Amino acid sequence: MGAAANSQSYKKHHQKAVLIDTHNDVLSSAVLDGKDISQRITEGHSDLDRFKEGGMDVQFFSVFTGPDARNKEGVYKDANEEIDSLESIVLRNTDRMLLARNYKQVKKGIQQKKLVALIGVEGGHMIEEDILKLEALYNRGMRYMTLTWNNSTNWASSAMDETLNPGKLKHKGLTGFGKQVVKRMNELGVIVDLSHTGEQTFYDAIATTTKPVLLSHSSVWNICPVFRNVKDDQIKAVAKNGGVICVNFYSGFISTAFDKRAEYLNGPGKKIIQDSLLVVTNDSVVMKTKWREYYREELSKVRPTIAELVDHIDYIVKLVGDDYAGIGADYDGVSSLPVGMEDVTTYPKITEELMKRGYSEKSIKKILGGNVLRVMKANFR
Ligand SMILES: [Zn+2]
Repeated sequence: MGAAANSQSYKKHHQKAVLIDTHNDVLSSAVLDGKDISQRITEGHSDLDRFKEGGMDVQFFSVFTGPDARNKEGVYKDANEEIDSLESIVLRNTDRMLLARNYKQVKKGIQQKKLVALIGVEGGHMIEEDILKLEALYNRGMRYMTLTWNNSTNWASSAMDETLNPGKLKHKGLTGFGKQVVKRMNELGVIVDLSHTGEQTFYDAIATTTKPVLLSHSSVWNICPVFRNVKDDQIKAVAKNGGVICVNFYSGFISTAFDKRAEYLNGPGKKIIQDSLLVVTNDSVVMKTKWREYYREELSKVRPTIAELVDHIDYIVKLVGDDYAGIGADYDGVSSLPVGMEDVTTYPKITEELMKRGYSEKSIKKILGGNVLRVMKANFR
């Protein structure tokens, strides 16, 4: 077969498979600011046309607000407003979108070739320590919740705090209330998402849950040891639980070279380089513009390749088999992506790379969506 025939073949395989991405931040990064993803937009990573081009079947939209609320009424209100914004997009695009609340609707939307939208809440702080608010968010369509974001709650410690600020933690892992949250999520049919959680919270949750878990956007620690990537023992624990780890595409979670360069430029390198730019320009405003350009260009030079990204999927498959890896790109939530993976149109390149490595059609289907479908089916009511 020539190159053209090969390229047709990976595109065909990609279109035939059900593609699921478990984490996209376009709601908080663009939709809340009034950007209309029904139209093709030039900035950002995602819109409905580009999802179609990428072959997307099922997208979890992340409902995200940080610990400091946008609303004076608080983070629970923020979450509800974001769900409103997703509902309004779906209502304006019923011909090509469907907001799914159960497994049957997910399957139906896939058959109808619509973009199936699901709601994932990122950060347990949004339930404001109230089981009734957890239930209310479930009623609004929440189908996964990460127990923490980078911030810990009073009932669950985050990867960031467990790793970088252990002295500040009042409690490590899940408290009694935290375990109650996990149990209620199991009963309701909300997938327990362990991306962003600290290792202690991770293991406490694995011991508490009766259903398969999800890591909606986490990569492999052994390839790129950053605080919120997952270690081998965690990957093995997820496999034992029947869950799935969906790989995050952020350059700094994929490549150590990128992570180290970013760390230097945000740390000791910043003053050194800014001082040297000041010598040349002698104007602090000009210097700052030059610095931003320099920063962007320097980091751009060390962006990982598609192969380096797929190495993370490959690593999970080699460690525990092909039933536990998936895709959770984090589009519109990250500032840098591997070369060639710049927006949601690029997913077919993952399929191409997996085929190059000799993955079977069956394995590719599991990784692109089959494994997440299994976890949804086991959790949803
Ligand atoms: Zn995140």
